Amino acid sequence: MKIGFIGLGNMGAPMAANLAKAGHEVIGFDAAGTTASGVAVAASSAEAAQGAEVVITMLPNGAILRSVASDVVPAMTQGAVLVDCSTVDVESARAVADLATKAGLGFVDAPVSGGTIGAEAGTLTFMAGGAQEAFDRAAPLFDIMGQKAVHCGDAGAGQAAKICNNMILGATMIATCEAFALADKLGLERQKMFDVVSTSSGYSWSMNAYCPAPGVGPQSPADNGYEPGFAADLMLKDLRLSQQAAEAVDADTPMGAVAAALYAQFVEEEDGKGRDFSAMLPRLAARGRG
Ligand code: NAD
Repeated sequence: MKIGFIGLGNMGAPMAANLAKAGHEVIGFDAAGTTASGVAVAASSAEAAQGAEVVITMLPNGAILRSVASDVVPAMTQGAVLVDCSTVDVESARAVADLATKAGLGFVDAPVSGGTIGAEAGTLTFMAGGAQEAFDRAAPLFDIMGQKAVHCGDAGAGQAAKICNNMILGATMIATCEAFALADKLGLERQKMFDVVSTSSGYSWSMNAYCPAPGVGPQSPADNGYEPGFAADLMLKDLRLSQQAAEAVDADTPMGAVAAALYAQFVEEEDGKGRDFSAMLPRLAARGRG
């Protein structure tokens, strides 16, 4: 299959490389000039899209996606499918879906979970929204780049699933970190905390798979000086998307709101920018109630 791939950053480059490795003809473009193994380089996003059966975008946010889509959609061949894997607001996903559909193209919003490790290993989870036919066309590519793809509903449903998942993740990471900080002050060893909680009702992905305490549990960014991993800035972005969506549909999300406020403070007023989102543990451990 001929595939255009736009946005060859930390996630996009390994995803595009996996498609090329599987034998697809992949032509990529990134505004910063980055490249990916086995991927031909186009001079613009429109050039990458020309003649492609599927065009995949992996971009920083909704505003950039809308701007790229306005160049790419007119360049695409009728009947081709545009697949956006970025994490963006539901509104942008639906606006780009409309643009693509009116131009006679298929559209799937397919944000991912699994981080850069999953992108490299080809083990991402895709959560997809869009028409069944468009999803079916993209599904073999999801199989190469990931281990699971769930068709969640119409356009925007993939983004809805992504921000709900990450709202849970932000809240459980903070809850896990503050429990470790409390345990420290109660004189409980971190290893004992992990041994109990990881097999008790307080367990979660944040504790069991991504433990924020160094030297405890599986290897995680905590064991690497809190180098990301999943940066606190990206968590803040996703939490803000969840709060923007909650505002738009009048949903009460108090835990999500507190998580967003805490990550905003960490990233924008303290030293959280560029650190892994689990660095919330040293932040909380260094503080008292005042
Ligand atoms: P990144 O910043 O490394 O990559 C984005 C790329 O888009 C950059 O290389 C940038 O140069 C390029 N770009 C920006 N504007 C462009 C334009 N107009 N035309 C072409 N290219 C352009 O970010 P990333 O970590 O690869 O994340 C990409 C998306 O995936 C984001 O929406 C992010 O929220 C989401 N995501 C990231 C992770 C993660 O762990 N990094 C996990 C899941 C989802």
